[in-house]
Amino acid sequence: MSSSSSSSSESKKRKHTPSFGIGYVALTTHPTKQSAEVKLNWGAETPDERRPVIGVEQLKVPRNAIGAHGGSYMVYKALAVANGSLDPTYKPDLHNTQPSFDIPPNKSWFGTDPYKSICTMDPWGHKIKEAFSEKYLTKGIDVRPTIAVTKAHIDIPEIMDMVRLGTLKADGKILHESGQISTGKAAVDPVWYLPNLAKRFNCTVSELRQHLFQQTNGMFPELLTRTDLDIFLPPIGGLTAYIFGDPAGIRDPNKKLAVRVHDECNGSDVFGSDICTCRPYLVHGIEMCIKMAQKGGCGIIVYFRKEGRALGEVTKYLVYNARKRQKGGDKAEEYFNCTANVAGVEDVRFQSLMPDVLLWLGVTKIDQLMSMSDMKYNAIVRAGIEVVNRIPIPPERVPADAQVEMAAKVFAGYEGGQVYNVTAEDLKKVKGRDKSEF
Ligand SMILES: [Zn+2]
Repeated sequence: MSSSSSSSSESKKRKHTPSFGIGYVALTTHPTKQSAEVKLNWGAETPDERRPVIGVEQLKVPRNAIGAHGGSYMVYKALAVANGSLDPTYKPDLHNTQPSFDIPPNKSWFGTDPYKSICTMDPWGHKIKEAFSEKYLTKGIDVRPTIAVTKAHIDIPEIMDMVRLGTLKADGKILHESGQISTGKAAVDPVWYLPNLAKRFNCTVSELRQHLFQQTNGMFPELLTRTDLDIFLPPIGGLTAYIFGDPAGIRDPNKKLAVRVHDECNGSDVFGSDICTCRPYLVHGIEMCIKMAQKGGCGIIVYFRKEGRALGEVTKYLVYNARKRQKGGDKAEEYFNCTANVAGVEDVRFQSLMPDVLLWLGVTKIDQLMSMSDMKYNAIVRAGIEVVNRIPIPPERVPADAQVEMAAKVFAGYEGGQVYNVTAEDLKKVKGRDKSEF
């Protein structure tokens, strides 16, 4: 879109007069009697008992969640209301939006075990119409999906090359002659059940609420004032799960499963930066998923929006500069220290949040986990999922400048299998591209 058309669309006549929607701003500092009627029973076995997550302010029922729908995109919605292009009382039309394949309930959707039961997403989030039409949607209550399940055809140049070179063979169903891949996929917005999240973080729920409140500079006062509300819709990115092969196979213990859980790295994943192994490992994961699906099993790639170890891309690029400019140049032995010096912490991805999507899909065993991360492995095992084999990235796919990252991670405890082995002596020797070539 050209800048002129964009500015004209922003300044065109308003469709709606901005208003406060339902006519008031709710400062919900105290529980109301009515809120007990929609209080969530997290972990209950039926949608009727569990009740829907209600994250929209409306007259008919009170909210039972703190925060707003859409993760970080909630802010853009507010802008659309502010400039008059969105009616704040608009209710989504969910006709024909239901999942294009089923992800049915399994035991991890229920109960309140802090690790083996889901607490970072709403397991019913894709079944809003199915589960909550009769008692809520048909009565005009605005309940929104937090998960959408659809299908896609994807073109990945490296996979197309593999088909052309014959290292991957088309089967006409999962992988086509053109190199195109058929997948199912699910987009998930975060929905946090705070009591169990606190248990995963080894803190009390009041400590968790207080720090979330303070570190967002008071954006969500209900974290402190509404302790009757256990659900928080955090203003963060969610995840996408790509499924290769028949999704029903994921739940079949007799079928084999390949999995990669990947944390976003836009610089490498999309733009091909050679300072890390992210895109090569992602492509390797997709290749292994295709092969597993072609053998009658299934593959899952989970793509988390946790850029720069969830410290964000600004922090990440500051760290790149610090790595290249430090005395002695970019070296493996200082890899983690550089991040800690800039951010105060090495990593905030908190992999204990990660396994819920696997539990939601019905995963109980992973035959091939394409990851070397001890943090991911430990979190998956803690969730009660068996991991049979851990598959490192083939060494020929590690870009030259990414040797620093690889050596530092393996030395710090990443699983290198038979392929990678890093001693303290080796660590001292591994250097990246000099700042003069930066
Ligand atoms: Zn990366």
